[in-house]
This record gives sequence, structure tokens and C-alpha cells, in this order.
Amino acid sequence: MKGQITLIGAGPGEPELLSVKAVRKLQQADAVFYDRLINQDLLNYCSEKCELIDVGKKPKHHKVPQSEIENLIIAKAKEGKRVVRLKSGDPYVFGRGGEEGKRIIENDLIFEVIPGITSAIGGLAYAGIPITHRDFASSFHVITGHLKSENNQLDWEVLAKTEGTLVFLMGMSELETITTELMAHNKSKETPVAIVRWATRKEQKTVTGTLETICEVAEKAQMTSPSLIVMGDVVTQRDYLNFYETRPLFGKRVVIPHTEKKNMYHHLIDAGASVLELSKLTKKENETRLSLEGINKLVFLDSDSVTYFISKLMENGQDIRQLEHVDFVTIGHHTELAVKKLGILPKERFDLLSDYKELNTQIETTLYIGEQSYIRQLIKENKAIKIWSPFSFENKPFEESQLEEADYFFLPSSKAAYYFLNNLSDTQKELLKMKKIIVMGAITAKVFEAESISVIQSEQPTFNSVLTKLIEEEM
Ligand code: SAH
Repeated sequence: MKGQITLIGAGPGEPELLSVKAVRKLQQADAVFYDRLINQDLLNYCSEKCELIDVGKKPKHHKVPQSEIENLIIAKAKEGKRVVRLKSGDPYVFGRGGEEGKRIIENDLIFEVIPGITSAIGGLAYAGIPITHRDFASSFHVITGHLKSENNQLDWEVLAKTEGTLVFLMGMSELETITTELMAHNKSKETPVAIVRWATRKEQKTVTGTLETICEVAEKAQMTSPSLIVMGDVVTQRDYLNFYETRPLFGKRVVIPHTEKKNMYHHLIDAGASVLELSKLTKKENETRLSLEGINKLVFLDSDSVTYFISKLMENGQDIRQLEHVDFVTIGHHTELAVKKLGILPKERFDLLSDYKELNTQIETTLYIGEQSYIRQLIKENKAIKIWSPFSFENKPFEESQLEEADYFFLPSSKAAYYFLNNLSDTQKELLKMKKIIVMGAITAKVFEAESISVIQSEQPTFNSVLTKLIEEEM
């Protein structure tokens, strides 16, 4: 099969600003090459098997040369892989997309481009600046501020006379030259100017001034690259259109567990937060023998363990009718439902294993069914219990930097809380104590209390109530 390379415009950073087609191609990709300006959260769209290759930096902070990047991409595609080259904004706006595309085609590979939202337009929108406006600007011009490396120097005279909105990309190191030259060529010193750093990201920051004052303003505010420099009367519209920076959770990073429905994810994004979904738990099945000899009580930890138990029983040529003298105990609401679905009324239901009074008695005749580490963590003091553990969960380690940059953690259930904590090192747990953790119920709170970590509990067990609590915390 002929290799294929898709050049994708990733947009300015916010993960939902990707096109539908770009998301599909990322999901299908075998390898993704990305660079410095790419928001790493976008890589969560990729499948687990996908190879992620950072070409933004070499060790010691050197950039990988363009020709080397092209060689790497082409070599990967020639292996017959579906390769994505992820570029910030739009690939054809100062993104070298044209050069890469030509080389790909010369190498007889299948090539396509998926346009992206350029920071020059979308980034400004998130700062409340419309790039055109009937009353203020009827054209716009996107200009590279990377003056030294360009063959053609900018024609300052023409630029100074241009009526439309001017947007400079890669211009921060040349801000002084740009403003001085424009003023020297008679562009009004009063022209409104804004600088937008890390647009659409939690680090977004906008400062405004005039052509005359902006250098000083930018220096005071320590504005750095990557930033957009925008000049023109449209900048004044920010007073009305600044929707993003005024959102209640703007600038906050919230960590939540992975879910297919993305309910809470969407609530948080809409409130302006930046959201990190924990990686999906992967289930691994364990080949273990099930022996019910001498057992008269089964304690089910979750609904999965109920399903596994029944299929194992059948595999052994038995069914529940043979368990006439066995009591069923369930931990939690969902487990209870799963047992009831089998037509069995559980003898008792507990909300936490540690609430289960008989933990230290009847050890010989009780079988606990569920994930090993989950059970062990719940009953620390009692090592001699019998466990049947047909599956285990694995998750990717949580990185220290991810913990450091988070402001809030939201764990919606005791199970999510257990697996989250189970995956953390002791140092990470210490770090976690300095963060704010939101939970919906007293049972989840207990899981954290057991590790001496304090939490904030929402008034009600609903996403809206959690959101209200988060916003209150910010006020
Ligand atoms: N292809 C990209 C531009 C690449 S050039 C696009 O269409 O947006 C890199 C420059 O783009 C940076 O130096 C900065 O000026 C600008 N830029 C890209 N993303 C940005 C962001 N999120 N916030 C502010 N500026 C950004």
C-alpha cells in the first residue's frame, strides 16, 4: 500500500477548535509528527497504538531542521503507515506546508491537507478582536515579523498606508522595529494595538495600547512569544467581545477521569476551563481458577466482577441455582443493580468495603470478588482474606508536570478516586494535597480522607452542582 501523509491544521490550541475531519484523521493515524506550538491535549485524539513523534525540539533545545523533519515523515509513510503532520493554526499560514507538500508529492506518496483555524483569525477572536468589521476594517493583512530570515524586507511605506487590520505573526522579537518603522512612515501613533499571547490556551494573556505605547506595555507585562500583534481600530471591540477571558474558569486547569460521553468535559470547557482527561483505564483479564469450596458468602466489588463471576461459573458447568446456600453482598449501588439483574436479591449492600462489619470474621467462608489492588487498598489491616480477581486495571503513569499545572481535580465516584490514587506515587500524593479536589459524595470523600487528603464536596451529586462549587471557589 502506498503511504499517505495528511497535513493537519491544528488550530490555535484549544482541542475543540480542530475540524471534524482532522479529528477522524488523528484517530486513524499510525504516526503523528507534532511540534512546539501544538497543544499536547490534542494528542488525546490519537489511538493508543499511534506513535507520537515530537519534532519541535532536539535534546538541548535545538530545533530539528526542516529537511530532517521532512525526511522522517517521508520515511515513515514509505513503511505504508498513515502519517499525520500536525501543524499549529493553518498549515499554509507561515507553516511551511507548501514546501512539505511538494516534497511529499515528489516522493510519490498520497498527500492531503486539512485546513486549520489560523491563530491570526481564531486567536484574535478569543481575545475579543474581530479581524474585520464594517465600521472599522474592510481588509486584513497577515504579515511575518520574522524579518531577518525573509528574503524580501517589508515595504514599510505600503504597510503604514494600509487601511485594514495588520496582524504580525512571529513578531515579538521585532516589536520595536515594527512599531518604530510604521510610525516613521506616518502610521498614526494613536492606532490601537493589542498583543495576544498563547491565544485559546489557559495561558492566554492580552494587553492593549497604541502604536506609540505598546512596546512599553508589552515589556511591563512581560509578553513573550508566541504572540499575535494586531493593529487597527478593531482592537477597541475587545471591550464588548471579550467572551473567553471573562469566562468563570478561564485560566484554570481541571483534571477529570476519561469518559466516553464527555459530559463534564463539555461543562468545564464551556465555563472556560482547560481540561485534562486522565488516560483511559485498560482492563486486563487474569486467568484464575474459581473455587467455591467452603464458601457461603460472596462479596462483589463492582458490576464487572458480577459479570465475570457468572461467566466463570458457566465455564465450570455450574449456574446460580447451585449457589442456593450462598449469600450475596454488594458494595455500591451499581453492583447491587447488576446482582438484581440476575434475579438475585443481595443479602446486604454496603457503600464502602470498610463499612462492611464482617470483614474480620468469617474469613474462611467469604470470597471477595473484584480487582486485587482495589480490595487490598480497602481492607489494609486484613491480609488473609480470600479474593477471586478475574481482571485488573492498568493506566498510564500520571506525570509530575501534569499534576503541577493542574488547579483542580474532579473525581466523580469512589471507584474513579481509588484508581486515580492508586496510580500516584507518594511524592505525587503529597503534591496533590496542595491542589483542590472536588467530589460529589461522602463516599468518594472517604477515599481521599483515608490518605489524609482533604476535599471539597458539591452540594448535590450533579455536574451542575460541581460546576457551581468550582466557580464559587474562584470568586
Ligand atoms: N500556522 C500558524 C502560524 C505559525 S507561525 C497559524 O496559522 O496560526 C508561528 C507564530 O504564530 C507564532 O510566533 C505566533 O506569532 C503565532 N501563533 C501561533 N499560535 C499562536 C497562539 N496560540 N497564540 C498566539 N500566537 C500564536
